Amino acid sequence: MKRVEGKVALVTGGAMGIGEATCCLLAREGAQVAVTDINVAAGEEVAQRIVESGGKARFYHHDVAKQEDWQRVMKEVTSDLGPLDILVNNAGIVIVGTVEDATLADWRKTQEINMESVFIGTQEAIAMMKDRGGSIVNISSVMGLVGGTIEAAYCASKGGVRMFTKASAIHCAEQGYGIRINSVHPGYIMTPLLVNAASTLPNAEDILKELISRHPVGHLGEADDIAYGILYLASDESKFVTGSELVIDGGYTAR
Ligand code: NAP
Repeated sequence: MKRVEGKVALVTGGAMGIGEATCCLLAREGAQVAVTDINVAAGEEVAQRIVESGGKARFYHHDVAKQEDWQRVMKEVTSDLGPLDILVNNAGIVIVGTVEDATLADWRKTQEINMESVFIGTQEAIAMMKDRGGSIVNISSVMGLVGGTIEAAYCASKGGVRMFTKASAIHCAEQGYGIRINSVHPGYIMTPLLVNAASTLPNAEDILKELISRHPVGHLGEADDIAYGILYLASDESKFVTGSELVIDGGYTAR
């Protein structure tokens, strides 16, 4: 028996990085995966690769900041794959900026994509899962646990995801819905998000070296390191785990 055999999973931001690794791993472990993203070409390619390797997946165009997209995609996924068992709120962005140089527009865009989307998605998923249970995994960050100077808006959004996860987890448990909600806190992972954010800085190479030095293990993480944690929280192996925060950070926050 595979670890999420027969379950239906929706992964946002599934076209790249941590989302892509999660889609592939959930599919390998027996889930039918709805790969959702704004990047149509890359998302379709992920779904196709999964199908070609014997898994079950389908791509859906989905901007997580739009409530109407959530409503449409949830309906389509239910009709195509069946009722949702697993939601991974993974899509996110980083706009580099300190408290002094971040603009209000950057702040709002960050909160919209990183935090408001998690609220909308969680609310939609609860409505669908409350009669049969499920697992919601919200991707926060080490930046939701400790501060980072050049990512002020990002830190706020990820701290918000952490506490929203706990509030909604307790609510669902008390209501007896059988829905578990947990957050995952990756350290720095080599994905397009990190590479793109670093490339906006004049001293990108020095920043990367500095980031590596903050991880006691001496290197950055890989997308699969995070996907394995998500798989655990998505599966029934974690049936007693809710409102918790799974830190996967090479020791970043242990100092
Ligand atoms: P990534 O490589 O940039 O992949 C994110 C995917 O989400 C991309 O395909 C991106 O599309 C998509 N996306 C962006 N805005 C979207 C929207 N409005 N609706 C739907 N999809 C959207 O990012 P990642 O590094 O895998 O990060 C995944 C999650 O992990 C994020 O929540 C991030 O904050 C978190 N995280 C990452 C790290 C890290 O070091 N990488 C560390 C801690 C936490 P486009 O490329 O077209 O924008």
